[in-house]
Order: sequence, then C-alpha cells, then structure tokens
Amino acid sequence: NLGMPAPAALAPRRPTRQLRLGPVGVGSDSPVSVQSMTTTPTVDVNATLQQIAELTAAGCDIVRVACPSADDALALPEIARKSPIPVIADIHFQPRYVFAAIEAGCAGVRVNPGNIKKFDDRIGEIAQAAREHRTPIRIGVNAGSLDPRLIAKHGRATPEALAESALWEASLFAEHDFHDIKISVKHNDPVVMIRAYEILAAQCDYPLHLGVTEAGPAFQGTIKSAVAFGALLRQGIGDTIRVSLSAPPVEEVKVGAQILQALNLRPRKLEIVSCPSCARAQVDVYRLAEEVTAGLEDMGIPMRIAVMGCVVNGPGEAREADLGVASGNGKGQIFVRGKVVKTVPESAIVETLIEEALRLAEESGLE
Ligand code: SF4
Repeated sequence: NLGMPAPAALAPRRPTRQLRLGPVGVGSDSPVSVQSMTTTPTVDVNATLQQIAELTAAGCDIVRVACPSADDALALPEIARKSPIPVIADIHFQPRYVFAAIEAGCAGVRVNPGNIKKFDDRIGEIAQAAREHRTPIRIGVNAGSLDPRLIAKHGRATPEALAESALWEASLFAEHDFHDIKISVKHNDPVVMIRAYEILAAQCDYPLHLGVTEAGPAFQGTIKSAVAFGALLRQGIGDTIRVSLSAPPVEEVKVGAQILQALNLRPRKLEIVSCPSCARAQVDVYRLAEEVTAGLEDMGIPMRIAVMGCVVNGPGEAREADLGVASGNGKGQIFVRGKVVKTVPESAIVETLIEEALRLAEESGLE
C-alpha cells in the first residue's frame, strides 16, 4: 500500500521445474498466475479475441481455448498470434489437434489422459513436436474423466487415483526425455483435490495448476476454490490457478486475482476494509462500502480504504489505512494517511473518499 509496510509472506513456494508460456513463467521462480477459459466458439476468432481482451483487463495471465473440431483448430494460429496473453489449446479425444495446436504457435497444450484413448501410443511424436516448438504440455486429469483402468484399480476417483493417473502420463513423456510439463488433478470435492495435490507435490517437481473442477455457481464455487487454493498455497503448493465457476469467465478471473491478493501472492489493488455494521452503526455501512467499491473499481494501484460504521473500531482502522472514514452522528471523519483531514455529512462521505483516493493515486505518480 502507499507508504504501508511490506505485506506478510504466506509460505515459501515448493521448488519446481520452470516453464515458459510466451512471456509468462510458470513454476516456483515466477509469481502464481491466474488462468481462465473462453466460452465463445473458438472458430469465431473475433468473439474469442474480444473475450480474451476482457479477461486480460480483469487480471488474467494465461487463457485456455477449447478445440473440439477441425474448424476450431484452424482458428488457433490467428488467436495465438493476436492474443495479448499466452493461449493454451485444450484438447480432448483427438490427438491430431495436439499437433495442430503446437504448430499453430499456441503457448501450451492441455491434454487429458483419461479421454485420449490412442494417446499413449503417440506420446513420442507429441514430445518431439512439443520439444521442437518449445511448447509445454499440461497433463490435466479430471475426476469426471479419469482413466477407467484407475477407476477399476481404486474403485473411484480417489486422491491416489488422480495423482497416479497424472504421474503415469508424466512418466510416459519422461521416457522420451520430455519434462516441460505441468500437472493438474481436479476434483469437485476440495478435500479430495487438496489431498491429490499434496500427493503429487511430494512425488514430483513439475509445476502444478490448481483447480477445483465443476465447483458450481459463483458463490459456492468461489468458496470451494478459495479454501482449497488457500490450503495448498499455504504449503507453497501451486504455480498457476484456475477458478471454475458456472458464471462468465471474467468472474473467474476476478475471484482468482482476489484469492492471490488475499494471500499476498499478488499486489493488492483496491482493498476495502469495511465493518459488518451492528446496532452501533450510525451510517449505512453497506451502501457506503458498495458505492466506494463501485466508484474505485478500476483503481490500478494499491490502496486500502477503511469504511467504518462508528467510533468503536472506526478511527483505529481508518488511521491504519491509506484513506478512511470513521462515522458518528450522521457524519464522517475523513482520514488520509492516518490524519483527520475533514469532517463531512453522511451524504458527502462517498464522493469525498473517491476524490481523496483519486488525488492520492495522482500524487503517487503510479497511475
Ligand atoms: Fe459495529 Fe462500529 Fe464495529 Fe461497525 S465499527 S461493526 S458499527 S461496532
């Protein structure tokens, strides 16, 4: 924050191999990145690039596009060339699209060992093509499409089964001396997923892509993803994340970015410290917090703003933030960097905070 002490560190990252997807590094030497996936038909290049631009603006580092047909494969070169962020092609069922994606210049390819039946026979060729184009491969195991052999062995998609599937596939690539691999083992149950990643982390040094699959609508999916990623990142496990929501992908990116910001793994931008309000509140805290957030949503620099309902914790929090209001008797004391600069009526609190925030941002020279 402006003039604030350095944020507390969560945990040292688990040391991993390092991958490069265009300009974005994935692995323990690079910041944890946020991914999402487009929902437009990939063959519609303009719509897909428009959605990628929106995801990039929301804080997405890497984007994945599905490639279910030959027409989609034909669209990959233009999308890969024009996208502002690295594009990963997501391939299921058809090994031939893996080659198309590599040759299209995609920054990476995701394959699912559970549903590319003829895949294992062609690993040597895939490794060769990926090596020539320096294209990392993600081995993306998913509970819903786990290799039937492992379902038969473990009875269901247990953490051990998920990890075994991914490590088996990685070993096939390793036989061809190909190691530019990251791994995901997704399950819709955060507890199973956490354990699967812990097993993987103990048994390999590949970077890990975290995801709770089919996590549900936005509210449930946000909570499942946040608790699972928090439990793993607390152990230094996880190099790139994808929040899966039954909601527009921009929402996934916002949630992913917020999770990393909450864990101090990405610089915080706008941070509202607002109280829940209680019988002591002397202003409408919900409205104030919402309106300040809406007014400053696009703030591009770190700033902590305290919006507090009364004098119990208000002055303390307001003083600790870059900017804050402590309210009482329908008025608000406005704090800037710990000092009261003015007192305004409740009706002027929002506009005063927004004005002061924009002034601080301008003064900082960062925006
Ligand atoms: Fe209640 Fe005041 Fe605390 Fe807000 S700051 S929760 S109004 S006591």
